[in-house]
Amino acid sequence: MKPNAHYAELKDSYLFYHIAQKISAYLAEHPGAYLYRMGIGDVSLPLCDAVIGALHEAVDDQADKERFHGYMPECGAPFLREAIAAHYRSRGVQLEDDEVFVSSGASDELGDILDLFDRDGSSLIMEPAYPAYVDANVMAGRKIIHLPSNEQNGFLPMPCEAAKADLIYICSPNNPTGAAFSRSQLKRWVDFANENGSVILFDAAYEAFIEDDICPHSIFEIPGAETCAIEICSLSKTAGFTGTRLGYTVLPKALVREGMSLNEMWVRNRTTKTNGVSYILQKGGTAVFTPEGQRQIRENLRVYKKNARTLMQALDALGIWYCGGENAPYIWLRCPGGMGSWDFFDFLLNEIQVIGTPGEGFGACGEGYFRFSTFGSPEDTQEAARRLVSLFKQDCR
Ligand code: PLP
Repeated sequence: MKPNAHYAELKDSYLFYHIAQKISAYLAEHPGAYLYRMGIGDVSLPLCDAVIGALHEAVDDQADKERFHGYMPECGAPFLREAIAAHYRSRGVQLEDDEVFVSSGASDELGDILDLFDRDGSSLIMEPAYPAYVDANVMAGRKIIHLPSNEQNGFLPMPCEAAKADLIYICSPNNPTGAAFSRSQLKRWVDFANENGSVILFDAAYEAFIEDDICPHSIFEIPGAETCAIEICSLSKTAGFTGTRLGYTVLPKALVREGMSLNEMWVRNRTTKTNGVSYILQKGGTAVFTPEGQRQIRENLRVYKKNARTLMQALDALGIWYCGGENAPYIWLRCPGGMGSWDFFDFLLNEIQVIGTPGEGFGACGEGYFRFSTFGSPEDTQEAARRLVSLFKQDCR
């Protein structure tokens, strides 16, 4: 047996491991110290009542001979596909139910979807990036084209000759930068993909955080996207499903390459490689798309948004450059005083016991930047902001 040699090309996923090690070392030296954890990209609020109620009902269904469900359809329960398609239609995006595929979350889909594409093809990854994009492509042996972004372009790179690739990853709103593409910027990427025969993998995991009208929630709000894009979405951050696991992928029937329908190929893939998502979870997920579910998830999102405002006000007061926070649960800041990402991490940990994520961990162009997550508790976020302000009161630009 010959193993997949591409695994040897993977860089150690050292980011969160390294952070955990630094925290353990600090706590060993300072037993009982309380840390303000602004690093994690995981939600802290529980599932909303509408979802919990639907989950309980679904569990009871499974205890009843008449209402019991065995295997679910591989591509998703009709009731959930319909609810998601209706949600898109309510935003002006016309979708048929069988253009929606229910998944166990965006991570699974981001890896599995590569099955649809020729292994010799190239993938464009805008950096700094969610680390799974690079790793999934390395494992699949695909050629990776790195497109760095920077403060000058607001961490939103635009199409250029060097960006020509078979697959184009776009994450908007972005993890880690929190930056979100406007409609007109995304239109340029859609036109570029259509002109070059590329396919855009649009990661919409953070769409629920968009507050303005300038940035679309879905790439399918952009004319022409149906012939060049696949949207991968998740209920993890939208509705607190990180530990419950549910997502969906939108793959339009109009997306055809070399006479092959990618929608039909994905049906073939799913019916071979999965046996669907559990009935109970799909019932819980359907509750998210009811009017009551939408109202309740927004209450939770408001808490994270308030955290974002708290941190942004602190950075504004200090004159520290940042992006994100407006339409995303992440704030991406320039480390004060020209500090490196890891030096800044150590400095915050040692001086004010605040933890964030060093930007360098998301790609080389993230060096000198730092990510704060807004998923913590309001109390911790307020205290972290207060400590930041008192630490950097002096001019730190
Ligand atoms: N895409 C991005 C950009 C993410 O940040 C995350 C999780 O943090 C995911 C996808 C994965 O989401 P899921 O929990 O649905 O697997």
